[in-house]
Amino acid sequence: MAEVTPVPLAGLTTLRTGGTPARMYEAHTADELVATLREVWATGDEWLALGGGSNLFVGDEPFDGTVVRVLTRGIERMPSPTAGRVRLKVQAGHDWDELVAYAVGEGLAGIEAMSGIPGTVGAAPVQNVGAYGQEIVQTLVEVELIDESTGEVVTVPADELGLGFRTSVLKHHYGSVPARRAVILSVTLDLAEVGTEPRTIAGEQLRSALGLAPDDAVTVAWVRDHVLTTRARKGMVLDPADPDTSSAGSFFQNPVVSASFARSLPDACPRWPVAPDLDPVIVIPLAVYDGHVPTPAAPASDVKVSAAWLIENSGLRKGFAFPRSRAGLSTKHALALTNRGGATAAEIAELARFIQGRVQSEYGVILQPEPVLLNVEL
Ligand SMILES: Cc1cc2nc3c(=O)[nH]c(=O)nc-3n(C[C@H](O)[C@H](O)[C@H](O)COP(=O)(O)OP(=O)(O)OC[C@H]3O[C@@H](n4cnc5c(N)ncnc54)[C@H](O)[C@@H]3O)c2cc1C
Repeated sequence: MAEVTPVPLAGLTTLRTGGTPARMYEAHTADELVATLREVWATGDEWLALGGGSNLFVGDEPFDGTVVRVLTRGIERMPSPTAGRVRLKVQAGHDWDELVAYAVGEGLAGIEAMSGIPGTVGAAPVQNVGAYGQEIVQTLVEVELIDESTGEVVTVPADELGLGFRTSVLKHHYGSVPARRAVILSVTLDLAEVGTEPRTIAGEQLRSALGLAPDDAVTVAWVRDHVLTTRARKGMVLDPADPDTSSAGSFFQNPVVSASFARSLPDACPRWPVAPDLDPVIVIPLAVYDGHVPTPAAPASDVKVSAAWLIENSGLRKGFAFPRSRAGLSTKHALALTNRGGATAAEIAELARFIQGRVQSEYGVILQPEPVLLNVEL
C-alpha cells in the first residue's frame, strides 16, 4: 500500500476546488488497489475512489476521510465470442481517451463518439458515460469490482449495473447513497472490427453533430477527429490553453419530467422521449381468468428536457458571472460551470444555487447536479 502525503483535491479535480483529505493512497496495480481498499474499509473511515477528478465537485474544507487514487493501467485484447468483434479488458485507472485512441487506431468501433471525455475507464460505467448517442452501456460486457460490504472481488455483467442515463447502481447521486458501494477494478468492452475502411454512420445524433448525411461514409478515425474538434468548440475537452477548461463538464443533468409537465414548457425547449424502464406486469387472479389477456395500457413515457435551454432562457447567458466572482458559466456552453482561476467551491456553489433558483422560478424545474458532490451542499 502506498500512503502518500495528502494534497488538496483542488489540484486533482478538473473544477479545481477541494480541500485536503486526511489520508491519501495511490494504487498502481489491481492487487495494490484491492489491498488498500480492504485496509481503508476496515477502519470505517469515509473514503473516496478518485480517478481523473472530472466528475467531482469538492468543498473547500478539509475532507475528514481517505482518498484512494486509482492509477492502474493496461489494455488486454481478447477474442470475442461473436465473429467480427474483439474484447478489450482495461484496468480502471487507464485514461478513457487514451483507450478510445487505441481502439480507433486498431480499427475498432463502438466508443469513437466518446472521444475526448476526460477521466478514467473505471469511472466510465459509474455514470454510464456517453456522447452523441453512444454510451458505454452499448459495448460494456462486464466489470470486475470489489464490494465494500463483503470485501470480495467479483465479476459483474453489465446488465446488473443498473446503467441508465448518466446513472448506475454505483453512482453517488446528490442527496442519495449509491445502491452498491464498490470500486471498479477493470472494464471489459466488446467492439466491432471495422478496420480503416469508410462506412456509413448508424446514429442520427452523431451524424447530425458531425454534419453527415445518412449515406456519407467515413472512417472511425475521421469520427474521432471530428468529435474532438466539435467538443473543443464547446470547451468540452481538457485544454490548459482554454479559459473555459476548468469545469466538471455538464454541471446539471437534463431534467426528466412527466409528459404532461413537459407540455407546460415553451415549445422551443428541446425535449427527447425517455422510454419507460420496465414492461408493465399484469396480474390476473386465477379465479377471474377467462382465457383473455388484455393489452397493457401504454405507460405514459417521461420526457427529458434541455437543461442548457432552461438556463439560457431564464436569463443566464453563456459567460454569466457575479461581479468579482471567479466562478462563471462557460463562454461556450451554458451547462458548464467553470472556475475562471482560483475560485473556491463556495463561489461555484453560489453560482449553482443562483442558476437553480432562476430556473425553478421561471419554469418550476429544480436542476440536479450531475457531478458527485463531496463535502459541499447545494
Ligand atoms: C470537460 C468535460 C467534459 C465532459 N464530458 C462528458 C461527456 O461528454 N459525457 C459524460 O458522460 N461525461 C462527461 N464528463 C464527466 C466525466 O468526464 C465523466 O463522468 C468521467 O467518466 C469521470 O471520470 P473520472 O475518472 O474523472 O471520475 P472522478 O471524477 O474521479 O470520479 C467520479 C465518481 O466516480 C467514482 N469513481 C472513480 N473511479 C472509480 C472506480 N474505479 N470505481 C468506482 N467508482 C469510481 C468516484 O468515487 C466519484 O464518485 C465531462 C467532464 C469534463 C470535465
